[in-house]
Amino acid sequence: MRCKKCQEKAVIGLPRHNAAFCKGCFNEYVHDQVARAIKAQRMFGQKDRILVAVSGGKDSLALWDILLKLGYQADALHVDLGIPGYSATSREKVERFADAVAASRQAKLIIHVVKQEEGAGIQELANLVNRPTCSTCGTIKRYQFNRAAVERSYDVMATGHNLDDEAARLLGNVLHWQVDYLEKQGPVLPASVEGFARKVKPLYRLAEREVAAYAVLNRIDYIVEECPMAKGSKMLLYKEVLNHLESESPGTKQAFYWGFLDRQTETRPTAGSMAEKDQASLHPCTVCGQPTTADVCTYCKMMARAQAASPR
Ligand code: SF4
Ligand SMILES: [Zn+2]
Ligand SMILES: [Zn+2]
Repeated sequence: MRCKKCQEKAVIGLPRHNAAFCKGCFNEYVHDQVARAIKAQRMFGQKDRILVAVSGGKDSLALWDILLKLGYQADALHVDLGIPGYSATSREKVERFADAVAASRQAKLIIHVVKQEEGAGIQELANLVNRPTCSTCGTIKRYQFNRAAVERSYDVMATGHNLDDEAARLLGNVLHWQVDYLEKQGPVLPASVEGFARKVKPLYRLAEREVAAYAVLNRIDYIVEECPMAKGSKMLLYKEVLNHLESESPGTKQAFYWGFLDRQTETRPTAGSMAEKDQASLHPCTVCGQPTTADVCTYCKMMARAQAASPR
């Protein structure tokens, strides 16, 4: 197998593009896909300050690496969830990357420790509020990322969702006809009101195996295991189904998700009209001041329940 661009020995084949690349040309391809995503979706500019949500997995660390190499000012936030046997390793990977790569580019790592700030690890908190671990986790991560981005004046928050993640989410939303979610699903979620950070997904043009290959080829040391709480999740099932289709018919995932985005641009509400709609229903939480549709935001309600239920 030869590189499509320079005829050197290829290290990876990309059936969906009918191509193969050597390491150098593959890195160029990855950087180019991210640069295109940023430009096509007007995600941010060279002067913007970006906060990357890093878990310690391949996608978020690769994203941080790529943004820094493309010359962006990108700091990162890691949420230490306090999951025994998983969170300590994840944090270690993030810290190691920050010391080895990010520090030399003047990028900062912020760490939020759930055990310290919320008073208990994620599983214990979920038990206290009687909610599934992943939904408790989602509430905390969304809240803390948004808060960090707004309080520290970042222009935009970036996450490492790749093509596989987005195609799987789309499949789930279509299977259950989650029309509200379908309307909002996309690589850019505009800053809807003051107090809500703009969110972007610069890896949406890259498949999961491409991001994994990028991380390996560039010696990014990431946590390989999935979070133990993800076991049996519907997202993993949808990914499996899509992988099966992809292996039979390369390009299926891309056609599915990008096709959705193309059609959505014709019908999707504009950033301005979404902001207006949100502005009408959102106001500051009476406890913490972050935007919410109720008097008290989900996070503050959850924390009050946890406090009431925790043994004194
Ligand atoms: S699998 Fe669940 S608990 Fe683990 S990081 Fe994802 S949302 Fe959080
Ligand atoms: Zn090449
Ligand atoms: Zn609140």
